[in-house]
Amino acid sequence: MAYQRIFNFSAGPSMLPLPVLETARDEMLNYRGSGMSVMEMSHRSKVYDAIIVETEALLREVMGIPANYKVLFLQGGASLQFAMVPMNLMKTGKADYIVTGQFSGKAYDEAKKYGEINLAATTKSENFVRIPLQNELKLNPEADYVHICYNNTIFGTKWHYLPDTAAVPLVADMSSSILSEPVDVEKFALIYAGAQKNIAPAGLTLVIVRDDLLTKELPAYVPTMCNYFVMAENGSMYNTPPCYPIYICKLVLEWIKGMGGLSAMKVHNEKKAALLYDYLETSKLFKSPVELKSRSMMNVTFRAEDDDVNAKFVKEATAEGFVNLKGHRSVGGMRASIYNAMPIEGVEKLVAFMKAFEG
Ligand SMILES: *Cc1c(COP(=O)(O)O)cnc(C)c1O
Repeated sequence: MAYQRIFNFSAGPSMLPLPVLETARDEMLNYRGSGMSVMEMSHRSKVYDAIIVETEALLREVMGIPANYKVLFLQGGASLQFAMVPMNLMKTGKADYIVTGQFSGKAYDEAKKYGEINLAATTKSENFVRIPLQNELKLNPEADYVHICYNNTIFGTKWHYLPDTAAVPLVADMSSSILSEPVDVEKFALIYAGAQKNIAPAGLTLVIVRDDLLTKELPAYVPTMCNYFVMAENGSMYNTPPCYPIYICKLVLEWIKGMGGLSAMKVHNEKKAALLYDYLETSKLFKSPVELKSRSMMNVTFRAEDDDVNAKFVKEATAEGFVNLKGHRSVGGMRASIYNAMPIEGVEKLVAFMKAFEG
């Protein structure tokens, strides 16, 4: 490849589609005749307004977001949403959390600062190798909402069904799976995602929230910046938004649309995940620690029994241009994050390398 780019399997920040980077480069110094970079524009200018308006329109189109949902472009990462969700959605002070990994655990711990939190289910005792079944969930029908992490970035698991929460609003952290396949937005009361996995560079957090859940009057301790209603009322411009990541988000959405939208993305991502999982099924050296029905399409975890072999594999893979394959320290082994921007070729070459390593 002309740019000598490597195959970057980082869990985040992660690869962006090459055509997006090329367009950003071409528009870097003089954005469409404005005489300046998008980084240098007033967020209140006409030229920037067109960017944020178009980004929201594209997101609504690509994800099929109904008109009664607000789209917010925020900052603070998914981690700030761990606090903003309870601050904004708790009416009675009760919420249900399902803990399926590290990030949902952090969300649960944070929520406990704001109310009485019910741990509705967790697979912690099994080191999070699976998603709990519906009949394992101890949901409180009086809860203000149920919180899940849709795709568990560190452990490589994913919800393959949606919990039936009856009338209780469902909130999902989709940081590592948003835009990877179609989702029925209407099944969720609120979806949030840090951008740096599948949307844009770090610095932007997307929130998609049903408008009937928003209230202006929140407890006095809630910072204005953390009030969804205020952010929605101001078109995400109560203060200066993360202008440049929003612009990259627009380019990414244009790329997804050009690729055929989220159903085409799903086909592309399923192919890549199948290449890895099919090989792991037959490998005598590497195994997936994850239960079959709970496997993530975005983060594929695997390991050899011997930690020295894992370390050797990561080292040799890095030397061959397959980088960031070391698994999270809480899981060990390896993790290949294969978000939208990872080409099929990257996974094919990785699998060929794994086979050769196994010998
Ligand atoms: C990366 C990640 C987070 C943390 O995101 P920040 O933007 O760094 O706060 C939270 N949840 C999930 C599922 C993630 O993958």
